[in-house]
Order: sequence, then structure tokens, then C-alpha cells
Amino acid sequence: MPLKTPEEYLESIKRETNLYMFGERISKFWDHPYYKIIEPSINTVKKIYELAQQDEFKYLMTAQSHLTGKIVNRFTHIHQSIDDLLLKVEMQRLLGQKTACCFQRCVGFDAANALYSITWEIDNKFKSDYHSRFKDYWIEIQENDLFVAGSMTDSKGDRGKRPIDQTDPDAFLHIVDENNKGIFVSGAKVHQTGFLNSHQAIVMPTLALRKGEEAYAVSFGIDTTAKGLTMVYGRQTSDTRKLEEGILDIGNFKYGGQEIFVIFDNVFVPNKQIFMKGETEFTGGLVNRFAGYHRQSYACKTGVGDVLIGAAALIARYNGVEKASHIRDKLVEMIHLNETLWSCAVACSTKGFKRDAGNYEMDMLLANVNKQNVTRFPYEIGRLAEDLAGGIICTLPSQQDMENPDIGSLIQKYLSTCADVPVNDRYKLLRFIENLSMGVASLSYKTESLHGAGSPQAQRIMISRQANLEDKINLVKEILDLS
Ligand code: SF4
Ligand code: FE
Repeated sequence: MPLKTPEEYLESIKRETNLYMFGERISKFWDHPYYKIIEPSINTVKKIYELAQQDEFKYLMTAQSHLTGKIVNRFTHIHQSIDDLLLKVEMQRLLGQKTACCFQRCVGFDAANALYSITWEIDNKFKSDYHSRFKDYWIEIQENDLFVAGSMTDSKGDRGKRPIDQTDPDAFLHIVDENNKGIFVSGAKVHQTGFLNSHQAIVMPTLALRKGEEAYAVSFGIDTTAKGLTMVYGRQTSDTRKLEEGILDIGNFKYGGQEIFVIFDNVFVPNKQIFMKGETEFTGGLVNRFAGYHRQSYACKTGVGDVLIGAAALIARYNGVEKASHIRDKLVEMIHLNETLWSCAVACSTKGFKRDAGNYEMDMLLANVNKQNVTRFPYEIGRLAEDLAGGIICTLPSQQDMENPDIGSLIQKYLSTCADVPVNDRYKLLRFIENLSMGVASLSYKTESLHGAGSPQAQRIMISRQANLEDKINLVKEILDLS
């Protein structure tokens, strides 16, 4: 059965890379002091592999491949039914609950599902062989249970100009050369979730392209250690707390997300890994379909929301105020917002449909509404969590001071609340809430909610395209007998 254990996964990503962090080139990241910063993001991905091994979660975490008939990790599955779409979001909520952060493996998963139907449609028009290439590539991914990153966002240069009008042509990743064996590409892909932890990445264009922009209309699979790739580790708020003695100040000290700035310098891509090359008229479809699947994926935030709501309820208990009516009402508000997010994730899955290629896709309008909600509600849930936790989440002394032989006992004395609440537990929980609402994990819970899978305006454009306003106008005309 092609399922890696968490330990096998960890061993498999120990590959030399061209990584930069704090100005230093690091080839063996697992063997460097900064690994303490990287490790939580690897723990998070390991959790995916771990849960897929457990009987209790197999129905969510695995699926039967329609390509090989074998049981594979669901993150490598091409959706074959409405049930698959629903199980996807349930799996994402579960993983959010288990890690309270971004588990990184959704982007390549969503790219694969989008490419599956797009390559079929390109072949249908041009009699090319992208679809069978893609299937061969993807069977390898499934057979080896590989983590595939998804690379869409270009650096974009002057936002007011098309790719071909940029002063620097590398502002959008593009083909710079080719031979009979493959192509060479240059450019950069930014905000690359989990790229360092992944085995492969699927690269896609960042926007719908026009005639004349063929060199930019390119999609392919690439080994994340390929020659010519440079990775720069993205900083996160309070990241160097992970380098300090002790774990309490970190907040979520087990798990975390990871974002990489990736530079492509004349990177070679063999023909068998190219899934689009010059077919500009299909770029819009690929971008929108990928974005739709990824906007469905933001079900992840309901799982993180569950943990934050739990943390808010627990801090109220630790503070001795859990029975106060206004506290209970704030918790109800948080639950209402979180379950409203969940409703849309479920709805866009349930209203999915079958593509001609045979795979299933979410409802585009509802997926965009889902993500638009996600750009707002986590901020309000976070605000309420901060309200319940109190101002102490941003004034708390350090763990070292709390453990200092001279003043530690005094700090503990004045931080204590109810008799049965250990001061350390309350400290840990306050740091956790700080972490999710304004620390490293706020990257996953807030900023990613805002900008991941496209910033709010991108969803609004899709919502306006998908919602047929004329139909709604005709409804009122019919009722009122208007001409
Ligand atoms: Fe998956 Fe959510 Fe992370 Fe995106 S933000 S990769 S959907 S966990
Ligand atoms: Fe993301």
C-alpha cells in the first residue's frame, strides 16, 4: 500500500537544497540550529501521514485511486464523487483541529484536481497528450505518497502592466529556452506554502493570459530540489522565540505553517512533466478552477477556529468567569461564525458536479463565497478570543522571568487565578491565544485567511461573474409584470 509513515516522510525530505535563512545559505536544513524554526511545519505535515495510518481516520485520510485501484493518501486523490468533495473538507477541518495551523498539503492537491480536467480539455481541442502525461506523473505521486506543493503566485512587478509589458520579463515565470528534451524557465513564485517540506511542486500561471503571452502559459511538475531553484525562508511574527530556551513563549510549540520565496533560474523541466505549454486560452480556466478548489479548501480554518474557540472557553474557565452570561454569549457568537464558515464549505462540496474528464469539481460560486467569508470571520473570532483572554496576552512576562529564582515565584503568585488552575497551564494557554491571534500562527489563521487562494477582491470578481444578476432582475420583473 503506497502510504508513507511519518518517519519515512521525514527521512524522504532530508535532501540538500539551496535554502537561505537569515542571510545564511543552508544546504542541510535538518542539521542546522535554525531547524528549531522549521521543525513545527514539518511536524504538521507528519501529522497528515500519521493520521492516514490510523484505522479511526482512514475513511477521511485515504481514498481508492481511480488510476491504480490502490489505497492512497487523500491528498493525492482525484475526486471521483460528491462524497469525495465532502470528505476532503471534513479531512481539512480535522487537520485544522489537530494542528491549529496550516498543514500545507492542500495546494498541490487542488492544483492536481484542476489540472486533471484542464489537461483533458486541452487534449480534446488540440489532440495533445497532456492528460496521459499528467496521469503518469500523478501515479508516481500516489505510489510514493509524495507531498506536492502548488506554485501559482508570481512576483508580478508593476501591477498595472501585463506580463509582456513588464520592464523585467521575469516578473512572471516564463519559458526562456527549450530543446527537444524539455523547457527552461525563469521567474519567482512567492508565498510558497510548505515548499521546503515538499517533494514536488506543480507550477501554474498566476493569471489568465492572452495571445502573445504564450511563454507565460506554462504548467509543469518539478522536483523541489531541482537545479536552479533557490528558496528563501519567509519570516513569521515572533519566529525567533523558537530559538530560545524553553517552549512556553512559543504558543503553539508543536505545529506551524511555512512560506517560502522561490526563485527559478533557468530551471530545466523535462517534456514528460509539462502539462501546458502556450495554450493561453486555457490559462483562465486553470487559474479559476485551481482557485475554486483552493477556496473550498479553506474549510481548514473551521478546524483552527474550533481550537481557538476551545482556548477562549478554557481561558474563561481558568479566569473563573465561564458562567457569566456575556462570556457565554461571546462563545456562541464565535461558534455561530465558525459554523457559518463550515456551512459554505459543505455547501460548495455538496453542490459539486462531474467534469467531462470524469472527476468532480466544487460549485464555483459557493466556493468563492466560502473564501470571502473566510477573509472576514476569523478576524472577528480572533477579536472575541482576545476579548475573553484579556490584555495579558500582550503584556505577559517571559518564561525565563517566570522561572527566575529571584522573581519567578512572585510572578507566579500574581498570575494565579482559581485555586485549581496551575499557573503554568494558564500561561501556556495565554501564549497559545497570543500565538493564534497575533503571533506566528496568526499567519495561518488571519493573513492566510485574507490572502490565501487569492485576496478578497479575487473572490468578488468571481462572485460577480458566477451570480447571474439578469436572472434576478427577471424575477422581480415577472412578479411585478414589468416589461
Ligand atoms: Fe491547506 Fe488551509 Fe494551509 Fe491553504 S491555508 S494549504 S487550505 S491548510
Ligand atoms: Fe495557503
